[in-house]
Amino acid sequence: MILILKPELDSESEDRVLDRLHELGINAQLVRTSGRAVVVLKSDVTEEPNHRFTQIEGVVKAVRLSPGYSLASSIKNKSISIVASAAGYSKKQSLIGSGHMPLVMAGPCSVESAEQILEVAVAVKDAGASVLRAGAFKPRTSPYEFQGLKEEGLEYLKEASKQTGLPIVTEVLSPDKVETVAEFADILQIGTRNMYNYELLREAGRLGRPVLLKRGMSATIDELLYAAEYVLKEGNEQVILCERGIRTFESRLRNTLDLSAVPLLKSLSGLPVVVDPSHATGLRAMVRPMARAAIACGADGLLLEVHDRPEQSISDAEQAIDPGELASVVKDMVSIVLALGLGAGSGDSEESAGEEDALGAVAPCASVRTLSESI
Ligand code: PEP
Ligand code: MN
Repeated sequence: MILILKPELDSESEDRVLDRLHELGINAQLVRTSGRAVVVLKSDVTEEPNHRFTQIEGVVKAVRLSPGYSLASSIKNKSISIVASAAGYSKKQSLIGSGHMPLVMAGPCSVESAEQILEVAVAVKDAGASVLRAGAFKPRTSPYEFQGLKEEGLEYLKEASKQTGLPIVTEVLSPDKVETVAEFADILQIGTRNMYNYELLREAGRLGRPVLLKRGMSATIDELLYAAEYVLKEGNEQVILCERGIRTFESRLRNTLDLSAVPLLKSLSGLPVVVDPSHATGLRAMVRPMARAAIACGADGLLLEVHDRPEQSISDAEQAIDPGELASVVKDMVSIVLALGLGAGSGDSEESAGEEDALGAVAPCASVRTLSESI
């Protein structure tokens, strides 16, 4: 950090600034440049607030040379292992990030019934998804809309995971529910409305489960990385960032998909970045083209809303695609990855991560492998 001093400061006042820093235990050096005096802080002041320095008499401004999210920015090429451990069945692990084949997480907006979630789980797996997504606790803009099946929905998700071997990503809305949801979820989703819920971020960090952190609908890139920092600071490095569209003056679509966030986030942190073209656009016809673009610009995965009868979805029906369209998205993804030489690994691994799937479910992502072989 650099402290800019008032231009007219005499040398006694400059010394007083250095003395005050010394009292605070901070190693600092005065440097003159272009006729101005600045103080370079040599100690690590990452955890010190700026006002600690700007309140010192004679200091005009405190300028940080590195971003305040020191943990997020120091992580390099992170890859995260995802296993269906909550259901206690799958032996497979999928890898996300760091040059692996992009991971497809797909499923309905909400868990609607035991039969629906199982049917969709089987369909998305056949179409090439490696993780099943669905909300049991739903954050809805209107309190009169379907709020999710809650704990009952988590039980249905667990059963679908047992039957298919697919790991589960599902949303947690409040800090007091983190432990409950983590009993069922292999990835804890923190949604756009909760990106600023710092107690929730901390609690999810403490649990040590992978966290899918969605960008706040009006959040800057720095704010998203600060939110990730809350999870990382609890000792949990398994954070997946998700670009899901932001609010702009454009009103034709639900949101504006900020794809520049993908390479930008990757230049600022080594955490995996996925894209959700479903919530970003709100229209099923937009999902496939934007999924293609997301993969082409380097996304480590896709989060997609898929329903076996999209127009009958209880929530977000307009943006749900059917399993056939998901298969096309996966096919596109593999073509793009191969054409651009993006994914080094297959995205999933044969390594044993638990007991063998009792039902002998085929490996998630098998269809991705088959596709990549046939292209
Ligand atoms: C979701 O993915 O289920 C969801 C509610 O998304 P978002 O938080 O991005 O609106
Ligand atoms: Mn939704």
